[in-house]
Amino acid sequence: MSHSLFARHALLPDGWADNVRLSWNANGDLTEVQSATARAHEAQQQFVLPGMINLHSHAFQRAMAGMSEIAGEGPDSFWTWRDLMYRYALHITPQQMQAIAAQLYSECLRHGYTAVCEFHYLHRAPDGAFYPDMAETARQVIAAANSTGMGISMLPVLYSFADFNDTPLRADQRRFSTNVDQILQLVQQLEASRSGQVEIGVAPHSLRAANVGQIRELVAAMPAQRPIHIHIAEQQREVNACIAATGKRPVELLLETQQVDQRWCLVHATHLTKAELAGVAASGAVAGICTSTEGNLGDGFFDLPDYIAAKGRFGIGTDSHASQSVIEELRWMEYGQRLRLQGRNIVQSPGQRRVGDFLWQACLQGGALASGRQVGQLAAGNRADMLVLDDQHPNLQDLPAAEVLNSWIFNGNDNLVRDVIVGGRQVVQGGRHVEQERIQREYVACMRELRRL
Ligand SMILES: [Zn+2]
Repeated sequence: MSHSLFARHALLPDGWADNVRLSWNANGDLTEVQSATARAHEAQQQFVLPGMINLHSHAFQRAMAGMSEIAGEGPDSFWTWRDLMYRYALHITPQQMQAIAAQLYSECLRHGYTAVCEFHYLHRAPDGAFYPDMAETARQVIAAANSTGMGISMLPVLYSFADFNDTPLRADQRRFSTNVDQILQLVQQLEASRSGQVEIGVAPHSLRAANVGQIRELVAAMPAQRPIHIHIAEQQREVNACIAATGKRPVELLLETQQVDQRWCLVHATHLTKAELAGVAASGAVAGICTSTEGNLGDGFFDLPDYIAAKGRFGIGTDSHASQSVIEELRWMEYGQRLRLQGRNIVQSPGQRRVGDFLWQACLQGGALASGRQVGQLAAGNRADMLVLDDQHPNLQDLPAAEVLNSWIFNGNDNLVRDVIVGGRQVVQGGRHVEQERIQREYVACMRELRRL
C-alpha cells in the first residue's frame, strides 16, 4: 500500500501550496509534507485538503432525523422534539447503536468529515441498569468509528439531574443516569481503546444535568489535555431557568465556577451577552456551532462576527444529524449571519477575506482543538486525514486553487468529495464508502425494527 500522495494543490496551514508530496507512516501519521516534483508515473491529485472535524455528534439521533417535522397542537419547540428523541433513546440496543453510528459515520466521511467528537450519553440498558460491561454502548460506537475509518473523540456524558437545583432525573432519562465516579470508571475502562484514531474525554451534559461541584470534581480527575465538552445556553428557556436557580446566566456561571480553557468546547453557546461572548473568546475555549441542528430546533443565532472580532475559536458539529454535509453546515454558518444582519460576506477576517477559506481553516483549527487529537492540518505529526476533491466536476475544472473552497461551499449541491483518506487508510473511493453496501444493509435492517416503536 502506498504511503504517500502527490498533490498539485494542497491546502496547508498557511493556504494553498502547489506541488506537494504528503507521506505518512504505518501508524497513519504524516511524516513529511514537502514541495516536490512528481516522479515519473506517480499519480497526481488536483485538490487535496485536510478533512473536517465534526465536533458534536449524538450518533443514535441519526435514526430519528426527519421524523419530527409535523406540527403538533401547541407551539412546537426544542422541548417537544426532545420528547420524541427520548422515546427512541429508551429502546435502542447496543447493536442498533453500532449500525446507526456506522451509517452516520460513513455518510459524514463521504461528505468530508474525517473526525467526530461523540457526546455519548446512552450508557445504561433500557431498564436503567448498567450492562455487564459498563462501557458496552460506548464500545459499540467506537467500533463503528473504527470499522468505518472515522477518527473519534469519545466523550462519556455526566448526566445526573433533570434540571437546575439538582432536580431528580425523570423515569424516561434512566438510560443517561451517571454520577462522577461512574463516568471516571467508564473513562478508565475505555483507556485501552485509545490509539491514533481514538481519544477519550468527558462531557458534563449541561449545567442543567450536572452541578458545578460535580463538573469541578470530574475535570480535576481527568488526565491533562483531554477534551471537555458541555452543552450551554442553547435555548432561552435554559438561560431563564439558570438565572432563576443561580442568579447567573449559564456561560457567566460556567466561567465563574470552572477554569475554562482551550480544553473546553462550549456546544451551541447561542444565547450570550457581549460580556459572556468576550469571556468565552478570552478563555481559549472552542464554541461548538451546529447550524443545521440549531436551525432545525429553532435555537437562535450565535453572534459570530463579534466573536471573530474578539479572536474567538469555533468549529462545526452535526449534533442531531439533520444534515451530514460539511458544506451545508458551513454555508448556513454564513447564511444565518447574512439573514440576521442583512449583509454579505460576514464570516471572514482582515487576514482572510475569502469566506470559504476563512470558514474551512477556522473550523479545522477549532475542531482540532475540541477533538484533543493531532488533526486538522496537513503537516508532519498530524494524522494523515485528507480529502481529494472531484476535479472533473464542472465547478472545479480549470479552477485556480484559490477559488476552490468558495466554489465548493457556495455553488451547487453535488458532493465534490471524491476520495477520503483517514489515518493513511482510504475509506471513500470515487464518492462511495468502501463498505457502503454492508453498512447500509445493516442500517436499513435496524431501522425496520426501530420504526415499529
Ligand atoms: Zn447536542
